[in-house]
Amino acid sequence: MKSSQSKRVSVDDLEALVRAALSRAGMAPDNVGPVAATIVACERDGVKSHGILRLAGFVHSLKIGWADGTARPAITSETASLLSVDARNGFAQVALDVATPRLLAMAEASGVAVLLTRNSHHFAALWPDIEPFAARGLVALTCVNSKKRMAAWGGGRPVTGTNAIAFATPRPGHPPLVWDQSSSVLSQGDVLLAANEGRAVAPGVGCDAFGQPTTSASDILDGGALLPFGGSKGASLAVMVEILAAALTGGRFGFEDQSPAGPTTTSFGGQFLLLINPGRAQSGFDERVSVLVAAILDAGASRLPGDRRYRQRRISAAEGIDVDAPAYASLLSLAGRSGGAVAQTGGQVS
Ligand code: NDP
Repeated sequence: MKSSQSKRVSVDDLEALVRAALSRAGMAPDNVGPVAATIVACERDGVKSHGILRLAGFVHSLKIGWADGTARPAITSETASLLSVDARNGFAQVALDVATPRLLAMAEASGVAVLLTRNSHHFAALWPDIEPFAARGLVALTCVNSKKRMAAWGGGRPVTGTNAIAFATPRPGHPPLVWDQSSSVLSQGDVLLAANEGRAVAPGVGCDAFGQPTTSASDILDGGALLPFGGSKGASLAVMVEILAAALTGGRFGFEDQSPAGPTTTSFGGQFLLLINPGRAQSGFDERVSVLVAAILDAGASRLPGDRRYRQRRISAAEGIDVDAPAYASLLSLAGRSGGAVAQTGGQVS
């Protein structure tokens, strides 16, 4: 429901504004599309922690030269099922966009495709990267390491990022089943949202700069650390992500981050992506997925991972997206537009 403190924007108009902001910050025309699409997808699907909230960080990183919006990814090696890409200090979404035709061909021919991307900035949710592959019938797994923000388990100082992992599978007769989560109890974006809104976070989410437990979102962000979900189990998954997304790709570890001080900058690391073509494995995959999902729902699960996003996507398409007034003002400013700009592009703003 639209609150008096928000603006309603159509998906198309949001995309136009995000594109304008990235272009204005110096991103090359060929690179704008994949990055804008992921930011818009997050806002459209109700993942506010990685939508417009992140745009200022993308823009800032471009403007100070921390990330290169003009870089075109280079394919550095290719085997029958393994593709290595150097994003050259550009964005992971652009590298994936360039690699996708080759990955699809590999998965078709050999049954497996692996993408190792290095020297890349991510800073967004992962499900937009893999949902399209599952929609084409492929099982997909991806992970991205980010700058050190999460305490080593049993130690006080951050070492790994809040390293996200996402999985997607085709589901017969339905949109893909997709989950996507950070290795931390809360994503850094959610802590940032809490800090912006002056809210405390729950106990167990993070610690302050002295390694002491805190519920203050700003203390966590200001030199503190987030904590892994599930204790040592989440911490171990974050370590796995550092191995797959950095050691294997040739990217930087979270603790090697050298991002400039000041406003939020994008994480510079790597991305691992695995695609498996079920058509090359044993037969009956679709039926087995259906059986599993039926058992989960029969056991009383109210929903599957991804269902909330799909529902929000339908609402956004039909009614537009409610954007908080401060986020909307920031969006217009970054896009170099006045308050009436969206209406001029034909969209509905109220
Ligand atoms: P959430 O805890 O919000 O959600 C994690 C997953 O659990 C989602 O797939 C969600 O599905 C699912 N889920 C939640 N509740 C239920 C339920 N009741 N039943 C079934 N499934 C459920 O995610 P996080 O806060 O951990 O992460 C948010 C985002 O942050 C992710 O998109 C991640 O990629 C991103 N991130 C990015 C990083 C980067 O460096 N680029 C680093 C860390 C995080 P649904 O979406 O439908 O609610």
